Amino acid sequence: MKKQNILDIPQKLHNKKIIMRVDFNVPLSENGNITNDKRIVAAIPTINYLLEQDCAVILISHLGRPKGVVTPQMSLAPIATYLKNAFSNHNVFMADDCIGTEVKEMANSLKSGEILLLENLRFHQEETNNDPSFAQELASLADFFVQDAFGAVHRVHASTAGITKYLPSASGLLIKKEIDYLGDALSTPQKPFIAILGGAKVSDKINVIQNLLPKVDSLIIGGAMAYTFLKAQNINVANSRVEEDNLDLARNLLKEATAKNVKLLLPIDHISATDFAEDAKPILSKEVTVPEGTMALDIGPKTAKIFKEEIINAKTVINNGPMGVFEFPAFAKGTLAIAEAIATATANGAVTIVGGGDSASAVKKAGVESKISHVSTGGGASLEFLEGKVLPGIDSLTDK
Ligand code: AMP
Repeated sequence: MKKQNILDIPQKLHNKKIIMRVDFNVPLSENGNITNDKRIVAAIPTINYLLEQDCAVILISHLGRPKGVVTPQMSLAPIATYLKNAFSNHNVFMADDCIGTEVKEMANSLKSGEILLLENLRFHQEETNNDPSFAQELASLADFFVQDAFGAVHRVHASTAGITKYLPSASGLLIKKEIDYLGDALSTPQKPFIAILGGAKVSDKINVIQNLLPKVDSLIIGGAMAYTFLKAQNINVANSRVEEDNLDLARNLLKEATAKNVKLLLPIDHISATDFAEDAKPILSKEVTVPEGTMALDIGPKTAKIFKEEIINAKTVINNGPMGVFEFPAFAKGTLAIAEAIATATANGAVTIVGGGDSASAVKKAGVESKISHVSTGGGASLEFLEGKVLPGIDSLTDK
């Protein structure tokens, strides 16, 4: 069932009081400075659209995991300051809480063209518990609910699923963009379609692999998860990270890829180290086997070259997960090379989508963020979308 988006219903929004779920879960430095504003920037088009419809806009978000306890370091106050600068032509207010009499009064007196940011939803345990009376109290502040927190729509919380029981609702422009990119890639990809999966665990990506195998032409697997696939083929991976419990599953996925005619590419050389440490000495192993006494922490140069050639010739590229321990500069080369290859694919006319917090920071580190068609703002949500799961925060919105 198609869900209502704000672009479909400007007349229903005109002059209304809107409560909008945003994802302002941004990283803050110790002294409360916003170190990456990507998620706030991503919410601005929807806020602007609502202001253009003469709405009064109430913004709700979580920040971090305060677990129902008021935690000053997780206050949204730095974001209120940011919004005051970003919307200097509008009145921007911040409430000390997200429910209660004072919040109700502030919401009641909010006028068209004004913005009210409520305090961290997760200062109340009722938010993550999807407590109905908490959801109802949030809903009572406004006439209409807009969901634009893509990073939170895989959760069944009061501000994602619960609130939609008490208000008419629609998705915002960010959700539309995320769903358009991810949805089109999965349902009508331009071919060749390539998925590049990496990261720590096979177990986290099993469902993604299973959902993508019938759709992709090639599947590249890098990162620690590649070593479970190599070991499953009796290749010596020495001390590399392996999920012993998933060796059979890896064997089955390899068979499934062959049966479906999917080209599955794994590392054929590695950068390894004796310890998992930032200052560990990188050891180049030119073989597919990992040298005894070491663990592979990055793909090697031959692998990077093969992966790159595959990527730059694709027309649809999805990447979730890094190729190695890119947080350590000595083991980041493979991940950065792949990020650059994805940017080249975009320049060659491909639709390129990068999802997951680590991959998003890798394209940033590689300096190619602006050369990717779409960098998803939702780690868990984009993964669940790629798994083919229903996202409850979208599914609960009003039908078109
Ligand atoms: P994920 O959250 O599953 O996407 O995993 C990302 C994490 O996987 C990053 O923190 C990487 O450091 C880690 N990682 C990637 N490659 C390796 C590897 N070869 N060995 C150990 N950890 C890895």
